[in-house]
Amino acid sequence: MNPGAEPLTKTTCPYCGVGCGMLTDGARLRGDGDHPANAGRLCVKGSSVLDTLGEHGRLLYPRIGQRRVSWDLALDEVAGRFRRVIEEHGPEAVAFYVSGQLLTEDYYVANKLMKGFLGGANIDTNSRLCMSSAVAAHKRAFGEDVVPGCYQDLELADLVVLTGSNTAWAHPIVYQRLAAAKKRRPAMKVVVIDPRRTATCDLADLHLAIRPGQDVALFNGLLRWLHDHDALDRDYIDAHTRDFQAALDAAGDQPLAGLARRLGLPAADLGTFYQWFAETPRTVTLFSQGINQARNGTDQGNAIINAHLATGRVGRPGAGPFSITGQPNAMGGREVGGLANQLAVHLDLEDAAHRAAVADFWGAPALPAEPGLMAVDLFQAVADGRIKAIWILATNPVDSMPEADRVRAALEACDTVVVSDCMADTDTLACADIALPALGWGEKDGTVTNSERCVSRQPAFLPAPGEARPDWWALCRVAERLGYGAAFDYAGPADIFREYASMTGLARRFGKQLDLSAAGDLSDHQYQRWAPRAWPLDGGARCFGDGRFSTADGRARFVACAPPPAPDTNHRRPLLLNSGRLRDQWHTMTRTGRAPALFSHRDEPFVDMHPRRAAREGLEEGGFVRVRGDASEALARVRLDRGLGEDQLFMPMHWSDCFSGRARVDALVPARTDPVSGQPAFKHTPVAVAPW
Ligand code: SF4
Repeated sequence: MNPGAEPLTKTTCPYCGVGCGMLTDGARLRGDGDHPANAGRLCVKGSSVLDTLGEHGRLLYPRIGQRRVSWDLALDEVAGRFRRVIEEHGPEAVAFYVSGQLLTEDYYVANKLMKGFLGGANIDTNSRLCMSSAVAAHKRAFGEDVVPGCYQDLELADLVVLTGSNTAWAHPIVYQRLAAAKKRRPAMKVVVIDPRRTATCDLADLHLAIRPGQDVALFNGLLRWLHDHDALDRDYIDAHTRDFQAALDAAGDQPLAGLARRLGLPAADLGTFYQWFAETPRTVTLFSQGINQARNGTDQGNAIINAHLATGRVGRPGAGPFSITGQPNAMGGREVGGLANQLAVHLDLEDAAHRAAVADFWGAPALPAEPGLMAVDLFQAVADGRIKAIWILATNPVDSMPEADRVRAALEACDTVVVSDCMADTDTLACADIALPALGWGEKDGTVTNSERCVSRQPAFLPAPGEARPDWWALCRVAERLGYGAAFDYAGPADIFREYASMTGLARRFGKQLDLSAAGDLSDHQYQRWAPRAWPLDGGARCFGDGRFSTADGRARFVACAPPPAPDTNHRRPLLLNSGRLRDQWHTMTRTGRAPALFSHRDEPFVDMHPRRAAREGLEEGGFVRVRGDASEALARVRLDRGLGEDQLFMPMHWSDCFSGRARVDALVPARTDPVSGQPAFKHTPVAVAPW
């Protein structure tokens, strides 16, 4: 860096939920040494973000159909269409589908407009696909959607259990922190639980290549083992929890050898894991999409939390369950109530006192008393005509939803599809009746919350391209046209943040941890200079360390977790397809696809399979394979990988029609969801393969 150059702007990486701090001016970029998440480190993806900037490929002007129009005309059209649908069919006939890519301020305004003023609750988010099982597990156990710990706990722990997480690729800086800690303290143990041998296993002292979908059985077995080996923290259970016996009864009492056979593991390895967990007070269990994206994702999360409650290891230095989130602002969206079954600031739609407090705070005419439709049901309602107008912001459901072909057909047939996006060429934008150009990273201004509850700034340091505008601005202008201007009269993102931060005082009033209320009177200057801080602002780095939880009686709840459902494979679809992130790509590649260097790791869609499976199917390395699911089929190149079971496949999640033509993995995934969280089961898709 040139020491005489202009100072760099502090911002946050636009990619994963690690939420790394960056210093940049759009031409220079480096990690922010002062940011608690990364202390100056950046991964390959984050380091390449400047290569994705520029006007090429951007959506620069509002459009109605293919016709360029003024913002005024586009906003009149959006407001007019939404008003007509609500008048004729009620607020349940309109929907917003939003994104963990939105800034908290955009998210807050979208949720306030839908739930507070349009009068419906049909606002859901792509975080439903990512973290909603963890949200539900937290609420069941703790009474609130709270990650109790912080990244530092991974460095303080003596045992780190990584389950359902290819941390090395999906959250690289957390992995680097962990690797550095293990290098400093070689006695620290790492256990990786994953059906696949991934890059993360390079750090593992023990890799448990569990059969897919068996995590509840494994953690239920751990609870029973802790009980049988006198390794419970009885005092903690008695003083701070409820329902232990019900969870223990549900855990069963299968002998270790039989359980190990069921899990597909050597009994000695399973016993070693249980022994290490029992004897290591400083244990962190980090879990992610491999846990959440399952038909029993919520139970899987609760089975993990049960083991931590049983040993009193929640919210203590180096100890706790740790759900690491996928997107840069999935946490911020959860805080402001961006899921269809949430209200705002961690309050509940079904609770009359919560609704009254929120309605009073917003001056809102009426709040819905029932949850809205979760993502899969929401797009089904679009398909069958119950939802007649939908506004999609900052996400690409035509590629990322399960049964993605049906989602495309539903949008093509819908009366009104409004899409706000930065990019001009996405599979979802192709379905839009009205397209609104949004600001992207570096152009928009607001805040995000990462996986350890740390709120950081993402300021604007680049000019707006074309006529692109902030999403909050477009939402407010539509609110104005619908007659709600007074409630959406924000001068800028600082105004919105102050309102949101003040509103978290309600959360505190109802005994929640979410508290940013001390930031409710920040000046614009203080907002711009906000240094990364975790909530609750008046608390320490961890929550619940005192054994007091956000439930009405202050006690955590054990949850009786049912045995896992049987796998869905059959003679027509005998293989289980797993999907996930690559190290260097992000979501549907609308941004990372613009950086050529990021294709040097993997440059085309592929299917990983065991060499013996490939031979049995008449396939060989580098050949093309057709992957058939019940919903669709895909084409990709074969890669041989001995790190997979012979009945398993892996495909990356990133390729869309815009990039490859025939490798939209989510088109293969059936729309089956967890009954509690509504999260789709992306991880266990029954498929068949054949040479192309
Ligand atoms: Fe960005 Fe995640 Fe990489 Fe950090 S780890 S630089 S947040 S992609």
